[in-house]
Amino acid sequence: MVLHLTTKRRAKTPLSIVRALSAEEEEALRRVKQGIDLPGENPVYSATVTSAWAERLWILCDCRDGSPGERPIITLARKKDTGLVHLSNIPRTEVPHVEGCLFAPGEGARRRMPDIVFGDVLRPVAERAEEEGPGLGPQRRIAGPGTGSRSPSLAGHLRRLMQAASLHRLSVSEGFASPGDWLAGIGRAAGIFRTPEDVAVSDLLFTDPQAWASGHVARVLDRLRAERPEKGTPFAWLCWIARDIDGCEVNRAHPALGHVRVLADVASPAIGRNRVAGPWLFLGEVGRSPETGRWECLEACAQPIASARCPVPVDSHNERRALGALRSLIRSLENDAGLGKALGGTVGVDLEKPLFDIETVGGPCRPDFILTVMRPDGPDGGPAGGRHLLGDAARYVIEVMGFDDPEYESGKAKTHRRMRNLGRLFTMDAGQFDSRRNGAQQQADRIARYIRNDLMLRWSRT
Ligand SMILES: [Zn+2]
Repeated sequence: MVLHLTTKRRAKTPLSIVRALSAEEEEALRRVKQGIDLPGENPVYSATVTSAWAERLWILCDCRDGSPGERPIITLARKKDTGLVHLSNIPRTEVPHVEGCLFAPGEGARRRMPDIVFGDVLRPVAERAEEEGPGLGPQRRIAGPGTGSRSPSLAGHLRRLMQAASLHRLSVSEGFASPGDWLAGIGRAAGIFRTPEDVAVSDLLFTDPQAWASGHVARVLDRLRAERPEKGTPFAWLCWIARDIDGCEVNRAHPALGHVRVLADVASPAIGRNRVAGPWLFLGEVGRSPETGRWECLEACAQPIASARCPVPVDSHNERRALGALRSLIRSLENDAGLGKALGGTVGVDLEKPLFDIETVGGPCRPDFILTVMRPDGPDGGPAGGRHLLGDAARYVIEVMGFDDPEYESGKAKTHRRMRNLGRLFTMDAGQFDSRRNGAQQQADRIARYIRNDLMLRWSRT
């Protein structure tokens, strides 16, 4: 079905079709009606509707079959103040659009309306108490924020450390000069956690591979054991970048980065049977081996990260690629002069990779990415002291789809309903990431345009 241009109906003369709209014209109309493009900024839309308006034509909708008289009519109205032509409808028409048709009265506006504006976006969203499966080897409880779960796992510890160092926030993660910088950040963040022996985890977390290779870690543990024999055998943690993982070997092919042989296979996210590709952030737990009596890496896990320079955690290589496109989406929104002018200042955008489930009204969910846009501080005061108030931030959820696994997809669909409680949901189709017309960047650009228009509708001062 296609849209048609038609002459207006008069008392005696019926509708007469002038021509069908081209696919390009029709796409432009749909994009504007959906709010993806603004009416004044889509040249195809402007050319189509302006000439139709000048020629006193209407458009026949394609949501119903039949002769021109049996199809709903889209009228054109020109706003005097802006000169822009808008798509409209005949009030109380005898042929209504089918339910849900994009061109039905109010439908475009309904789809464009912001779902929810969140006041709490600058506070962390409530995280859910974690339920983790038991890991391998000894489970060391550590105390600190978010550690009250029933069954702590090493992978959970690693995620908590990354979160404490804010590596899951792109604005933090892309600001480091070198991996040594953000590893030091993890070391500092570990200071908020304590071991069962009441030692700060930062004192027992080693981010320099040399500390392990040189025997320094073993000496620290020997000394701690001698000093506090009543506390039992201490543990320590190793944490650095892994470039290769093979069974229980970490960085065997990259010894300069810190080769570690673990007593058990390294746990890391997998899709199907395939380990998600690196680089990873590796966390190993060092304890006394019951067999050899030596300090060994008993257990280890690895979290894929975007890159060594940008250690945002990712769950798949598709997410890694999506993140690259989303980084430029953020730049384009922040550097959009027209948007800045309309909103009275530059918006701030941050991307967050949730590391734990988020509790929503409908139940827990863990979106792939959350984008938060901060309203600019206006010249007329704006949020005092940088403290943003209710409605001063907009949140969007981005999901990366692309595992050809129906069960996985249906599981996602269920949690998507919950994610909509957090903000407007966009999906990226990883299956198309390499396509010429719908690649990762093109998908991100479309999301950027949508967000831009959404922000204009929410916050524009004009
Ligand atoms: Zn229709």
